[in-house]
Amino acid sequence: MHQSPRTWAPAESQTRIEDIADDRLGEGGTTPMAAVVDTIEDLMSASERLHDEEAFNLNPASNVLNPRAAALLAGGSASRTSLGYAGAKYEMGLEHIEQVEVITAELAARLFHADFAEVRVPSGAMANLYAFMATSSPGDTIIASPPTIGGHVTHHAAGAAGLYGLRTVGAPVDVAHYTYDVDALATLAREVRPSLITIGGSLNLFEHPVAQVREIADEVGARVLFDAAHLCGMIAGGQWANPLDEGAHLMSMSTYKSLGGPTHGLLLSNDAELSERIDQIAFPGMTANFDAAAVAALGVTLADWIEAGADYASQMRTCAAALAESLADAGAVPFQCERGFTDSHQFALLAAPFGGGTRAARVLEQAGILTSGIGLPVPEVPDDQNGIRIGTPEIVRRGMTEPDMPRLAGYIARALDTARIPAAGSDSPAEVVLREIADDVAAWRKDFTGVRFTA
Ligand SMILES: *Cc1c(COP(=O)(O)O)cnc(C)c1O
Repeated sequence: MHQSPRTWAPAESQTRIEDIADDRLGEGGTTPMAAVVDTIEDLMSASERLHDEEAFNLNPASNVLNPRAAALLAGGSASRTSLGYAGAKYEMGLEHIEQVEVITAELAARLFHADFAEVRVPSGAMANLYAFMATSSPGDTIIASPPTIGGHVTHHAAGAAGLYGLRTVGAPVDVAHYTYDVDALATLAREVRPSLITIGGSLNLFEHPVAQVREIADEVGARVLFDAAHLCGMIAGGQWANPLDEGAHLMSMSTYKSLGGPTHGLLLSNDAELSERIDQIAFPGMTANFDAAAVAALGVTLADWIEAGADYASQMRTCAAALAESLADAGAVPFQCERGFTDSHQFALLAAPFGGGTRAARVLEQAGILTSGIGLPVPEVPDDQNGIRIGTPEIVRRGMTEPDMPRLAGYIARALDTARIPAAGSDSPAEVVLREIADDVAAWRKDFTGVRFTA
């Protein structure tokens, strides 16, 4: 027996869910459990082969761990408890875990110039929820990046903000500079009196006017949250100004994107009053026990950043700029504003010529190149995203450098040519071309097996 159909899920998802359940568990659930365990192991091995051996991961929302962090994550500590303050743990046997908890929080505060770091945060989305709870009450209004400049669902009605009862108003966008329109934001803030203004999103190309946003927030009695889920690497490596130094009250992040740590979250602040509230939200509020293995892996990740992060971040940025230029030369058009293609580790291609960002990303996957769609402040593509997001965190950590970018761009552009609308008119079917590219990509991928920038 399988679960009941999710009548609310998209039809293609429901079909896929039923197919997987039938294939892997047997129609009627008859597959023996020993075989199910084998299947789970086989699927994870296949996933590791795809990501670690065959494909180049250009999705900036993912990265590779330092093998020493990965080993900690896979160790036995993931099932241990961690309840309570260091020095006052509720359960016994936690004298080692509590030291790791303290070390990781200290390193986080040091790396991000923060007075307080909260590591008992299971994800970036939860870090945002903690920030909403610390600054706002249900019924309050907040201002956040709209999806056209990478605004994340956690700040909007369907995400943590909406579920907590906040009303979100999209910030006015200055498309020419790919950031907030500060004058229009000031007017909006006076009108809607937000409790919180959030900055940052899932695509970040140029620095945001954090200090000016803080001035606006002060005028209307709001706090400023900088969502550094993606930008944390640029900030940690000193490539972008630190939003806390510029006046943000809070900075939230995911730790598995540009930071290259475990799937976890982090929340930082220089404000003692907010930090006290966050402390209570983390415990005993939203976590009882946190994942000690993830916190240990995060500690290793942060040590790597303190040691080698400046070099890593600078190379991510150099490679992103070079890849965007090379792609433009090869005929795939990056989104561009008055400030250029990008100042960060990520950028986006216009997806309309390929029928949409998700469609293009599916084609690129067949060529061994992993990306995703993203929203851009350009005309919409019906039923799809209008951008393709590309980032350099993983390829750089794996050892790619600027001179590799033209060759990589060549594979991407050739794969995308098979998806052009109308069809490129080539004689060879797209699948044959994509398979050829995938073979070349997999062969080249073998040159980049290490993990650089470790302590
Ligand atoms: C990815 C992302 C998040 C959510 O992070 P998770 O760790 O995946 O929960 C929040 N904000 C932004 C801008 C993101 O891109």
